[in-house]
Amino acid sequence: MRLTTHGLIVKEQTVGEKDKLVTAVTADMGLIRAFVKGAKNIRSPKGAATQLLCYSQLVVYSGKNKDTFIIDEAKVVDMFSKLRRNVENMCLAQYFCELAMHICPHGQPVENQLKVILNGLYLLSENKRHPLLVKACVEMRLMCYAGYQPQLTMCSGCGCYESDNMYFIPREGILTCDKCISQEKLPYALLLGKGVTRALRHTIYAEESKLFSFNLPEESLILLNTATEQFMNYMLERDFQTLTFYKFMAGYSKTPPKVI
Ligand SMILES: [Zn+2]
Repeated sequence: MRLTTHGLIVKEQTVGEKDKLVTAVTADMGLIRAFVKGAKNIRSPKGAATQLLCYSQLVVYSGKNKDTFIIDEAKVVDMFSKLRRNVENMCLAQYFCELAMHICPHGQPVENQLKVILNGLYLLSENKRHPLLVKACVEMRLMCYAGYQPQLTMCSGCGCYESDNMYFIPREGILTCDKCISQEKLPYALLLGKGVTRALRHTIYAEESKLFSFNLPEESLILLNTATEQFMNYMLERDFQTLTFYKFMAGYSKTPPKVI
């Protein structure tokens, strides 16, 4: 069966001398794996349109193995060319790819997830938002779509909306005000100011069209990202190697990535 879809290429592997196997996030079928025959030929338009981080129109048909498709035709819609000129932003984009591969299901529509990632890539590519702002929004929105939505409407103890010192408890995904924080939760709580609390709420509750529309100074963005990363780490019970690499490359961490 031949199908036409649109997909963002999130992984590319060479197979033999001429072919490659790609993983794409598609709006209607979720993650798909697909062979691109003859992709290594430099004149192959299919090869160019199925490079990592290309968003392309794909004509695919089922292979012998039902889980894997064969790409018959591919045409670039957006290849985020400016993104490719900035090493740090490319590293962040590759983290989005790893995240998408972990979080997006196979065989189910992921229109919302794809939209968030594409919008994030566009903003990085055009340099329209701070990369840490884009990162926090993409992370938290993808977590929500995957069913990990923190409860940030009010303090989990007294129900107040705001206090000067609001704590975020990443391992529980809740907020607690300074009057309600218990001694046992304190060691793993993150103290957020009002601005970061609002921004964290925004990443969860803002309308899709306004998701990336806020501003924070860089030091607050760093705290916001600590909150989102710790939340993801507890919920997904894993690290992302591409994230370690991005933080090292962008100067947010002194920990060099492990070489495998
Ligand atoms: Zn409280």
